[in-house]
Amino acid sequence: MRGAFLSGAFMVANLQTNTNRVKADKVVSSTCPYCGVGCTLQLHVKDDFIFKVTSPFDSPVNQGNLCVKGRFGYDFIYHPKRVTTPLARRYLLEGKPKPQGREQVFAVSTDGKPIPDSQISNDWDWVETDWETAMNLVADNLVRIYKRDGSDAMAVYCCAKATNEDNYLLQKMYRALFRTNNVDHCTRLCHAGSVVALQQAVGSSAMSNTASQVIMNDVFIVTGSNTSENHPIIALQMKEAVQKYGAKCIVVDPRRIDLVDFSEMWLPLKPGTNVPVFSAMAHVIVKENLVNWEFVKNRTEGFNEFVESLEKFTPEYAQEISGVPAEDIRK
Ligand code: SF4
Repeated sequence: MRGAFLSGAFMVANLQTNTNRVKADKVVSSTCPYCGVGCTLQLHVKDDFIFKVTSPFDSPVNQGNLCVKGRFGYDFIYHPKRVTTPLARRYLLEGKPKPQGREQVFAVSTDGKPIPDSQISNDWDWVETDWETAMNLVADNLVRIYKRDGSDAMAVYCCAKATNEDNYLLQKMYRALFRTNNVDHCTRLCHAGSVVALQQAVGSSAMSNTASQVIMNDVFIVTGSNTSENHPIIALQMKEAVQKYGAKCIVVDPRRIDLVDFSEMWLPLKPGTNVPVFSAMAHVIVKENLVNWEFVKNRTEGFNEFVESLEKFTPEYAQEISGVPAEDIRK
C-alpha cells in the first residue's frame, strides 16, 4: 500500500512541476462528465490542448477536490476514433431508399460466407455531415414515421448526461408534438429501486439533500453503495464529517468497503436481506420508544399500520435471516 501511495504521489508531483511551468491560453469552467456528484472543473488549455485540470476551492460540491477520474481522465477527448462531427448513412444523404440486406460489417451471403468488399453496397457507410443536414434528416424521418404509424410508434429515451432543461424539452416534444407518453430515461433504470422507495417514503424520488449538505450530517447509514468508488468526493465529505466533526458512519453491506474503516459499525448482512435488518431497527426504535413523535405527527401518515407491520421483525428474527447479530441491530 505504501509503495502504491508513494508512486502515485510522485506522479502527481511530477505532473504539477511540468504543468505549472506552462501558461494557459485560457481556463474553461466545466462540470465533470463522470459521475453524479457533478464536481466543478477548470480546464487549463494551451494550443487547444487540455494540459491540466483543477477545481476552484469555492466550488460548493467538491471544494477544490477531484477524484482521479475528474483530475486525469480526459485523454478520451483526443482519441483518434472519437466522433467529432455528425455522421449519417450514405443512402440517407443521397436520398436513396433503404438498401436491402444488412450493413457492410455483418454482410454474409446466404450460405453464411462473408461477402467480399467489392460486392457490397456502400450505401450503409457512415458519412460525415454538418449539423443542419443531420438534424433535418432526423426531423424529416420522425415526422414521416409519426404520420405513417401514429403516436404508438413514437418513443424517446432521454440521457442522464444531458441537462434538466434538455430532458424537459425532449419529453415535451414527444408529449405535445407526437402525442405519446412513451418517454423513458436511463436514470429510471439505474435508480429504479431508490426511486420507488423514496417516492413511497418521502413523497419525492429526487435526492433528498444536495451533495454539499452531506458534510453536515451527524449520522450516515451506507447501504448498497460503495461510495468511495462510485462517488469519491461524497465519500471524502463523509470521511471529513467523521474525522473532523464527530459524525457517525454505519455500513450495512455484505462487502467490507473502504468506508468501513471510518465507521462506528459494520453490519455485514447476507445479500438481499436489507429489508429484515432495517425493519428490525425500526422495530427496536418503536419498542424502546426512541421515536421522534414530533416528526411522526407533523410529517408522516399511516404510522400505526407501519408499526403493525414491524411486529414480527424482532432483532432475533432478522439475525436468523441476515446473519447480523441481534445485539448489533439493537445498538
Ligand atoms: S467525484 Fe470524481 S468522477 Fe465524480 S464528479 Fe467528482 S471528480 Fe468527477
